[in-house]
Amino acid sequence: MCRVKKEYSLKTVEDRLGILESLDRREFLNFCAKITATLGLASAFIPKVAKAIEQGARKPSVIWLHFAECTADSEAFIRSTYPSTEELLLNILSVDYHETLMAASGEAAEGALKSAMAENKGKYLAVCEGAIPMATPPGPAGVPGGYLTLAGKTGIELAREVLKDAAAVICVGTCSSFGGVQAQRPNPTGAVGVEEATGIATLKIPGCPHNVINSVATIVNYLLLGSLPATDKHGRPLFAFGKRVHDQCQRRAHFDAGQFVEKFGDEAAKQGWCLYKVGCKGPQTYHNCPLVEYNDGCSWPVKGGHPCAGCSEPQFWDNMQPFYERLPDIHLPGVEASADKVGFTLVGGAAVGVAAHAAYTFANRKKFDGTLKDE
Ligand code: SF4
Repeated sequence: MCRVKKEYSLKTVEDRLGILESLDRREFLNFCAKITATLGLASAFIPKVAKAIEQGARKPSVIWLHFAECTADSEAFIRSTYPSTEELLLNILSVDYHETLMAASGEAAEGALKSAMAENKGKYLAVCEGAIPMATPPGPAGVPGGYLTLAGKTGIELAREVLKDAAAVICVGTCSSFGGVQAQRPNPTGAVGVEEATGIATLKIPGCPHNVINSVATIVNYLLLGSLPATDKHGRPLFAFGKRVHDQCQRRAHFDAGQFVEKFGDEAAKQGWCLYKVGCKGPQTYHNCPLVEYNDGCSWPVKGGHPCAGCSEPQFWDNMQPFYERLPDIHLPGVEASADKVGFTLVGGAAVGVAAHAAYTFANRKKFDGTLKDE
């Protein structure tokens, strides 16, 4: 609002354009600062990040493949504000093949794919969206992987053909990373993630959908250093997946104070208290959602009042169900009795520290807070 008033108070068109340009520049530099921070780099790197984005240092060729998915990761990608979608597609990258964004179709599209592969052999980035079905459909015409065919090839045939000559393979979204909802039991199409299907190592940016700031930061890392960022054991970049949602969450203070939403719509929900008891999987999920948020930093599920579903974790559809209930109890020596009273029971080694903290919190809350009923 202030910006609009200021612009209209200026007398000349030149004045207005000058202010608008400087505002755009300031916003662009703010974005570069955000990318730099997302990558875990010192602020001294901001000018280099800006230069890499503006000049598209190497302008790598990108071949974007679609497999079994809902196209939400392409949707997420074209929601980029800084750099804009057209800058991303045309200036920073050279997106030579993308089935849902390219104007060409049929033989022209297939020709674009062949040329991009031949001209950039060993240098192009292969970006994959969607899981790859590996099962054989029933019937006489059934072929392995035949639940997905593109231009007469199965998904797995196309993946092997394109990925073998790529400089690097980046999976965007949980489906290409780990199989996603298609790979949920009973998984009739035999869908799996791209790495599992092809045996070719991939960098994974999961999320349902993935966050465009993480794919842009990965590309900036590639433009700056000529390599992909360091990853965790699942192949996810550490800058985005190195910490749990729970440890960065805006509602964490309420968890620490033992203040929980008991059911959707209650007074605690209106107060923005912790969503653990209504199924939040933040304590088991590694993702930077609370820091970068979605839609140009607008919001993310927990901020909007919905529990984290753990969508960036492998096999989350199977492992995080039921979504609106707490995870099943396990025995945590020395802490489970108290932890259970605050409804804190988690699976996995990483949970022990959190559970101990919850037990401590519970003990302290009993002293100063009588506003919530314990189970
Ligand atoms: S349990 Fe969920 S809502 Fe509560 S602090 Fe952790 S991540 Fe945030």
